[in-house]
Amino acid sequence: MRLGAHVSISGSLDLAIDRAVAIGCDCLQIFYGSPRQWRQSVFPDDAIERFIHKRRAAGLDPLVAHAAYLVNPGTPDRDLRRRSIASLLATLRGVERLEGLGMVTHLGSRMQSPKGIALRRVAAAARHILGASERAMVLLENSAGSGGTLGATLDDLAAALDGVHGDPRVGVCLDTAHLFASGWDLRTPDGVEEMVRAADRAVGWDRVRVLHLNDSMGALGSRRDRHANIGEGLIGSSGFRAILAHPRLRALPGIIETPGFDNAGPDAKNLARLRRLAGKGGQRWKPTGSLR
Ligand SMILES: [Zn+2]
Ligand SMILES: [Zn+2]
Repeated sequence: MRLGAHVSISGSLDLAIDRAVAIGCDCLQIFYGSPRQWRQSVFPDDAIERFIHKRRAAGLDPLVAHAAYLVNPGTPDRDLRRRSIASLLATLRGVERLEGLGMVTHLGSRMQSPKGIALRRVAAAARHILGASERAMVLLENSAGSGGTLGATLDDLAAALDGVHGDPRVGVCLDTAHLFASGWDLRTPDGVEEMVRAADRAVGWDRVRVLHLNDSMGALGSRRDRHANIGEGLIGSSGFRAILAHPRLRALPGIIETPGFDNAGPDAKNLARLRRLAGKGGQRWKPTGSLR
């Protein structure tokens, strides 16, 4: 199974590869620059080259970049939306330069505006950045649903996808903690199967390209977005056993964004737990062919 983690680029882009390898990743997620700033990072060609070569040598696949936390493509605030689109485009082009699969982004918040209109703004933003880039995918992530957050239902994701008219470069990233907090009971094989079927109906399963594997501090349906270490949250070890046993889920790359057992971010112990819970097939993935 392809399991990996969100790792830091602190110090230098290519150090993310060392960090990923050190904790036992098969795939990875990074921030392309600072997640809490509007200022966009500009990396020189040699830094990009070093990253690409190191990733190839390490066989980490896929690479995804997570959009900055500040972005809100669904907002009615014009200025915030303009800055969000610029930031999203910078990240999308960045992951394209790094030869990655795509960018994971949240849909943002509708503030006081009607949901349908906000989702149309998300789709318009996606169309814009897709038109200004070439290859990398835009992966829309589901949310826990706190406040006016968009993407808490599979129908939200489906509406945003509809708005891009089936562009093959748009996909979905499902986060287990957000699914659980938004009401999907992933603690049993039946609950997992129900979610997979619903996602297949709403967005088409082939659109789902990446999983975020996080346990949840927030209770089922609580709309609370607090990640927990694997087995320490309310999804729990048996829940992750059910998640990782599902053939459609285990076929996807799974990335942890857990707090870490030392509170130092995603770590080897969380990945080792997932591999153990995945049972047969949970061992390190052996890459074949070209990397995305
Ligand atoms: Zn996530
Ligand atoms: Zn979250």
